[in-house]
Amino acid sequence: MKLLTNLAFWALALLFSQPALGQSAKDQAGLAALSAKQLEHTAAKEIFGAARIPANLKSRAIGSYAKGCLSGAMEMPDDGTAWQVMRTSRNRNWGHPALVKLVERLAREAKANDGWNGLMVGDIAQPRGGPMLTGHASHQIGLDADVWLNPMPDRKLTQKERDDISAVSVVKDRKSLDYKVWTEAHARLIRRAASYPEVARIFVHPPIKAELCKWAKGDRSWLAKVRPYFNHTYHFHIRMKCPAGYAGCKNQAPAAPKDGTGCGEEMAYWMGEVPWKKPKRDPKAKPLKPAPALTLAALPAECRAVVTAP
Ligand SMILES: [Zn+2]
Repeated sequence: MKLLTNLAFWALALLFSQPALGQSAKDQAGLAALSAKQLEHTAAKEIFGAARIPANLKSRAIGSYAKGCLSGAMEMPDDGTAWQVMRTSRNRNWGHPALVKLVERLAREAKANDGWNGLMVGDIAQPRGGPMLTGHASHQIGLDADVWLNPMPDRKLTQKERDDISAVSVVKDRKSLDYKVWTEAHARLIRRAASYPEVARIFVHPPIKAELCKWAKGDRSWLAKVRPYFNHTYHFHIRMKCPAGYAGCKNQAPAAPKDGTGCGEEMAYWMGEVPWKKPKRDPKAKPLKPAPALTLAALPAECRAVVTAP
């Protein structure tokens, strides 16, 4: 038992020995000095946010999209034949190899067939997945990827540009698109992503789905996977199904809107006022406490091995 604890400590010290971007050395040293017991009670986002390299284990998406981790991650190269990774300093361009290959395939096929000049790839996951210090609740198991709704420029962007350039929204307001930005190539790109059988869901801002509902001809079944959701005005989110062969990866129930596309009742709901209303609260009620941060103990047990692996 003593030996095991020592081993875990040694592995952790190694894992956290590289300086992390955006985190002070004090935090790093503090994390590395935590005992196994303390580790259980440290916010998982602190632990996973500090990992700089992937866990050298079999490639596995462990747990569920918003509660899990990733082993054997593959890095999406900063540049490819039809993509550029944005926000490279965040070190969130790690995914399950199946997801990285899927995004690369989408990039190539959209460039070849859809009039889309390559992908600008946003956040995928951290090197060992898990919760993040900022942003996303999901993106934890390496099967989620954000892709900008702006075509890639013809030149190679500098590191500084990749961190500084802002994406341009395709949305005018919560009900309508900005047709100065939106093009039919956007629609073809999203249709292609949703048509891959490996893809479980695509998240877009509601007026984007409304546009796709009007636009789609012929086979409209892919529309079922395109889900309207808040805050997807300048990027769309690709969520892949669990790759076969590992039972510890938990799929969501497939998107199955009643009308087969989600263009009827669901779209009417999103075009209405209800989803956008702030919930009413009794002014005399106690202020709401934020939900406590996930600890390592709240994640699947396999994630402990992912934290301590070399
Ligand atoms: Zn996302």
